Amino acid sequence: MNLNLEGKIALVSGASRGIGKAVAKLLAEQGAYVFGSATTAEGADAVTDSFREQRLPGEGVLLDVTNNENVESLITTLSSQNKAPSILVNNAGITCDNLVLRMDDEEWYRVIETNLNAVYRLTKACLKPMFRARWGRIISIGSVVGLSGNAGQANYTAAKAGVAGFSRTLAQEMGSRHITVNVVAPGFIETDMTALLPDMVKDEMLKRIPMKRLGNIEDVAALVAFLASDAANYITGETISVNGGMYMA
Ligand code: NAP
Repeated sequence: MNLNLEGKIALVSGASRGIGKAVAKLLAEQGAYVFGSATTAEGADAVTDSFREQRLPGEGVLLDVTNNENVESLITTLSSQNKAPSILVNNAGITCDNLVLRMDDEEWYRVIETNLNAVYRLTKACLKPMFRARWGRIISIGSVVGLSGNAGQANYTAAKAGVAGFSRTLAQEMGSRHITVNVVAPGFIETDMTALLPDMVKDEMLKRIPMKRLGNIEDVAALVAFLASDAANYITGETISVNGGMYMA
């Protein structure tokens, strides 16, 4: 399928690895110029190198989504160069798991800050140029556990459920400007985030997945790219699962 993203500028947070890396690659393959972020200068350089090696349009940028000044200055700089993103993929995320009884405040706030507050922060920074252009795509990576809950992940599930609620509201506020706002909710995807899970936990997960495999990063990227395209013009305020059937709401 040719999703024809020629002429579009995309920003993918957390494009140095995992899901974000696959999303950045696919958007660029479909013609968008992609800014892919990493939290270190070396990471950003590696993103640039990767685009160059694959002869794809894009570059790496340094971004810590929890840092307000960093977010503001990146978007201001891109806007001043007429490169304001019209496609934003809020992908950056972390986990810091613990049972609520054992969780300390720092574990709670760190995950809420990175996975929820930063989505508000980066989205808001990108909205004005989209508003003026009367076209935009805001796609945030949620999670199956934001829908189902998951023992040991109260901070993470609260953040992901919050992103879905935020997106539904923003979709209502922005619809008349042709800005769509959606959430992609992956199940268990093979990335660094899930690599550390013990085999026993992975085996238990597999039992709950009708498709009998973990997802791969390309499975998620395909839906993100579709939502970014004009083919998804009339889809907004949705949370769409990519989870091999492990949770059907
Ligand atoms: P990952 O492999 O651990 O990669 C995380 C990415 O986020 C990295 O690029 C990292 O950048 C970036 N990042 C972390 N903290 C950041 C910050 N403060 N500012 C900017 N970037 C930051 O994760 P993943 O598995 O691909 O997950 C990507 C998204 O999908 C997350 O939102 C996650 O919650 C969600 N998700 C994942 C799964 C799964 O099974 N893997 C399932 C459901 C949802 P550096 O490389 O510079 O550290």
